[in-house]
Amino acid sequence: MLVDRFDRRINYLRISVTDRCNLRCVYCMPPFGERKLRHKEILRYEEFLRIVRIAIKLGINKIRLTGGELLVRKGIQEFIPMLMALNGLDDVSLTTNGVYLEDHLDVLKAVGIKRINVSIDSLDRAKFKRITRFDYFTKVWEGIEKARDMGFHPIKLNVVVMKGINDNEILDFGRLAIEQPYHLRFIECMPVGLQANSLAFIPNAEIEEILVNEFGPLIPVSPGRHDGPATRYRFDGGNGEIGFISPISHSFCQDCNRLRLTANGMLLPCLLSGREVDIKDSLRRGCLDEELIEVFLEAVKSKPKCHPLSLDNHQKVYRKMCSIGG
Ligand code: SAM
Ligand code: SF4
Repeated sequence: MLVDRFDRRINYLRISVTDRCNLRCVYCMPPFGERKLRHKEILRYEEFLRIVRIAIKLGINKIRLTGGELLVRKGIQEFIPMLMALNGLDDVSLTTNGVYLEDHLDVLKAVGIKRINVSIDSLDRAKFKRITRFDYFTKVWEGIEKARDMGFHPIKLNVVVMKGINDNEILDFGRLAIEQPYHLRFIECMPVGLQANSLAFIPNAEIEEILVNEFGPLIPVSPGRHDGPATRYRFDGGNGEIGFISPISHSFCQDCNRLRLTANGMLLPCLLSGREVDIKDSLRRGCLDEELIEVFLEAVKSKPKCHPLSLDNHQKVYRKMCSIGG
């Protein structure tokens, strides 16, 4: 079992399978994209599988696949079933921008994926295009609705609210969580990479106030087995949920149970601390499993108590969210 210096049990691995993406969200990527990893720098699927097998031995039982955009990586349809076939995982989920979601739903359903997160920062086609720099709103929305109709649950909709850009849609998102079974997740914009502009930042408390003034009290939802850092609520009579992920205004690090694996084979003890441990190097030297276990233990040992950002410290973190996976 992996336990860090602060007695936190680590059982969750987020894997960024690619740094490539078919969108250029304003808070994540510059208009012409980031420098791409070279093909040989990116872990092959069998390398991911070997790392996951080791992770399972160490008590990891929950995996999230992310990117970049995982559904643009060639072979992902074959990789996901291989991952799902590994013994010892309780939960495999994914975070996608939804552009190719509809094309993959049959395979995802067939292999037993139930939980999907889709990032959608606007319900308005023109604004969606302004935020993502591509006109794919309709395609994403159709994917979300089809996933709902096929019984995927929960479908979490990740929303990064930015002042002056999409903050006038907070009530529309609230209404959506009342009328539909979606779990809305408001994520505070983090100053990661060069894109995210801290001027756009809105603390989640402001969003909560706007919602409560319009729709009445938010009723806390008791924590579930698969909960992450979101605080969860629902409106009386609502079909869906509202969740707040507040890395800047409220530290949730005391309950952090995760490690991240980047597409180029770095284990990250923390999204925002800047530390990383190279696992690809050991892997490609043909090391024994024992050495990979040591790399995991080192990553867990170097997990900081807390990330450095707060309302008083809005320093930039010079990492690329698209290569870490959010
Ligand atoms: N491409 C997929 C997507 O957009 O869902 C997965 C990768 S993306 C990096 C994962 C999550 O990180 C998305 O929900 C996205 O909104 C979020 N994200 C990216 N940059 C962010 C930032 N600067 N602050 C807060 N969330 C961010
Ligand atoms: Fe791509 Fe996701 Fe980053 Fe948007 S947030 S640019 S979809 S990786």
